[in-house]
Amino acid sequence: MAKKVEHASHFDRIRTRIDTACTTLGVPDWMCDKLKDFKLVWSSGLEVKMDDGALKHFNACRVWHRSPHTDQPHKGGIRFHPFVNVDMMQAHAIEMSIKCWLMGIAMGGAKGGIAVDPALLSKEELKRLTEAYVDELDERNILGPFRDVPAPDVGTNPEIMNWIRQRYAQRRRSREDARFAGVVTGKLVGYGFDGIIGRNEATGNGVITVLGHVMERTLGFVSQPRVAIMGFGNVGMHAAKLAYELGYKVVAVSDVRGGVYHPAGLNVPKLCAYVDAAKTVVGFPDADAITNAELLELRDIDALIPAALEHVLTEKNASKVSARFIIEGANSPTTPEADAIFEDRGVIVVPDVCANAGGVTVSFFEWARNVNIRDERVPAGNRDEVLASMQNILIGGVEEMCRNAEKYKTSLRNAAFVTAIGHVAPLFIAKHVA
Ligand code: NAD
Repeated sequence: MAKKVEHASHFDRIRTRIDTACTTLGVPDWMCDKLKDFKLVWSSGLEVKMDDGALKHFNACRVWHRSPHTDQPHKGGIRFHPFVNVDMMQAHAIEMSIKCWLMGIAMGGAKGGIAVDPALLSKEELKRLTEAYVDELDERNILGPFRDVPAPDVGTNPEIMNWIRQRYAQRRRSREDARFAGVVTGKLVGYGFDGIIGRNEATGNGVITVLGHVMERTLGFVSQPRVAIMGFGNVGMHAAKLAYELGYKVVAVSDVRGGVYHPAGLNVPKLCAYVDAAKTVVGFPDADAITNAELLELRDIDALIPAALEHVLTEKNASKVSARFIIEGANSPTTPEADAIFEDRGVIVVPDVCANAGGVTVSFFEWARNVNIRDERVPAGNRDEVLASMQNILIGGVEEMCRNAEKYKTSLRNAAFVTAIGHVAPLFIAKHVA
């Protein structure tokens, strides 16, 4: 009988990455243990009234990773998805810390959410559920502009962030004079909403910025690379738009329903207009249909951008991927088994904690503006200045990660963890060793 292969959970894998980076850096065991530990793990049930008057129970959680930035908040998304659980949120909270520390953002990672399929709720039910979540977090003093600043994640959006800000302000207004807008980022943009122009496209824009920089660094030039993008949501669509503007050939894109391919490059503005109406890329007239599996294995591409789901690049398909560069727009699209195959084959994988850090970087700008924090990296101006400042920060993070990969003769993924932990290690030591 075939032996069952036990795959480690995502949380186990992230802990292994912390161990590997700590060994590379030679930090003391106590710090390595601390980095696998959490300042706060809260989980509980919420009861919410449905439109038919019945009460329904939902599981919710929020996690704070360990951080040496005791006077700064924790930061990380709120996810509304049926698979939300504490283990997965712990893994993502660690990844958020690594992302922040790699980019020089002095905050700790966080993550949380509710096990729910938001598509099954009415808008009023979703709002009551969001408010119940804020109530539970606030009862425990978890939320706050200097405690924990959530942002949108899978299943949540700027409108939900606005509900969070309003509910928090209603609950707190009589008790303190806080800068309520800073309690959450990724808010709506416009008078009184206090979001920041550029946040919406930041992650996708950052992914292409990172691709261009890494290609230039590796090959010495970037000449109209041929790109395939899995996922055409916030990250994938904005990545496609910038790639097209820069003259790259976006030869394939896909969504949950399937993909489209054109060997000479898709007309991305036309495709976006089509998706606006059809709500899918499938059926776009000026292209051939392909499956998601075929997109990942396209033979005529330079760069592959997984921007949809976790664990799509595995030991089963890694040897069939032809792209020389993989830029992880999604969180955790590559399994460790696939990573090992890519490393053997010389495929350059830019890890999620670096490649998709544009979003948290612009969220940091939004928060800093909302709470009047002075930081020379926070642009005062318009969308172009916001994105230019984000790109500078990202390129700084990429450069440091690449230099550490060379210094320690290690993968970019380990180098990202090494760089991030290297930034905070002196702070942990200063805090604990007199
Ligand atoms: P989104 O919901 O806007 O878009 C997701 C896209 O993936 C959609 O086009 C969807 O159809 C597609 N998709 C879903 N299931 C699929 C499947 N089985 N096969 C192929 N495509 C599928 O989400 P998003 O905000 O673009 O996030 C995408 C990924 O990027 C997630 O892993 C998210 O955690 C990560 N991420 C997002 C941000 C951000 O700022 N939005 C920041 C960092 C990381």
